[in-house]
Amino acid sequence: MITTEKALEIILNHTEDLGIEEINFKDSLGMVLKEDILADRDFPPFHRASMDGIAITTDAFNSGKRAFKIEGVQAAGSEQLSLKDPENCIEVMTGAMAPVNSDAVIPYELVEITEGIARVSINDIQYFQNIHRKGLDRKEKDLLIAKNTVISAAEIGVLTTVGKTTVKVARNPKVMIISTGDELVEVDQKPEAYQIRRSNVHTLVALLERIKIDADSIHIADDKPLLKQKIKAILENYDVLLFSGAVSKGKFDFLPEVLEELGVEKLFHKVRQRPGKPFWFGKKDSTTIFAFPGNPVSTFVSCMKYFYPWVKKSAGIGFENNDFAILAKSFTFKPDLTYFLQVKLENKNGQILAHPVAGHGSGDLANLVDNDAFLELPRGNTLFNQGEVFPLIRYRGN
Ligand code: AMP
Ligand code: MG
Repeated sequence: MITTEKALEIILNHTEDLGIEEINFKDSLGMVLKEDILADRDFPPFHRASMDGIAITTDAFNSGKRAFKIEGVQAAGSEQLSLKDPENCIEVMTGAMAPVNSDAVIPYELVEITEGIARVSINDIQYFQNIHRKGLDRKEKDLLIAKNTVISAAEIGVLTTVGKTTVKVARNPKVMIISTGDELVEVDQKPEAYQIRRSNVHTLVALLERIKIDADSIHIADDKPLLKQKIKAILENYDVLLFSGAVSKGKFDFLPEVLEELGVEKLFHKVRQRPGKPFWFGKKDSTTIFAFPGNPVSTFVSCMKYFYPWVKKSAGIGFENNDFAILAKSFTFKPDLTYFLQVKLENKNGQILAHPVAGHGSGDLANLVDNDAFLELPRGNTLFNQGEVFPLIRYRGN
């Protein structure tokens, strides 16, 4: 049995470069950008009025002028006007080009207009006040967004400003989620006394949707020849197989045998952790297989702990977990295993406190609803003290 650190190391040594795809910017939120985005023109592209008001020359103002004849109106979205007489003004709207020859905008709030004359009662003026200068923010050809940035709403704004209708992003893996187990029925079925509805598949689909992966899913009964036949076809058509169940010691846990018989190289089986100890990981050619134990909490935490970093590293971005929280109450855990403790989070004056709500083990999926995250308590200790800081794996927020 290997440690969680070793398991993660092996997984990260078996990532796959899945290449690049070009997609519509509307689908790019959360994806990893695979091209540098340069400014197609200056930001802003012209001297932009940043308030509604009148555009004047500071020379006229500084020579004592306070009443300006209005020559015209410069609206946003119209061609640039010229101030013909430097003693006059032009009304300007936010987002309009500052008229040629003007070098300051006085907001309407400080202006009184009567019979075509704008009067101001201020005593000071700054050169270029309320004019957002051309190229002040970025210059044409400047690097705006570097390759390997994860696209957020901020990047969507910049991508669209420079006219990127399509963007190059890291291709997501094609994933098949496979549940096993003869006790499982569909969500819309009424289970017999000895059955349960299959939930893990849907949890996994949701966990993948969260990282923008659209997965397929299938259920296969605990029947060895059938498992073998179905998995054989799936192996050829997917980048990743995520299993839940059938990897423990039970009489019907056929998966490890079946995978090995199909030529999948076993890279490890069993990790010193709770929940999720019977985790099996392997590879066949370019297809990667994560076989998580079927208990719902095991599948849930293992997907986030192991599959998420695999996806990030495959996409060429940082995969380290930089999220931490403070244990809010001392907790004892005796087995020599890494323990993923379910915690409810509280942000107390900017500090993230993790309140343990341990639940009733790996089958207690209802307890996940009462929590926000897992706190990863390292192996080798038994007492974890209030105030100590541990890595955090969140499934809510963040
Ligand atoms: P296994 O890993 O196949 O031994 O399953 C461990 C436990 O998880 C059993 O109690 C199963 O009934 C349960 N389980 C397995 N697969 C699922 C699933 N897809 N949804 C909900 N529970 C499951
Ligand atoms: Mg099973």
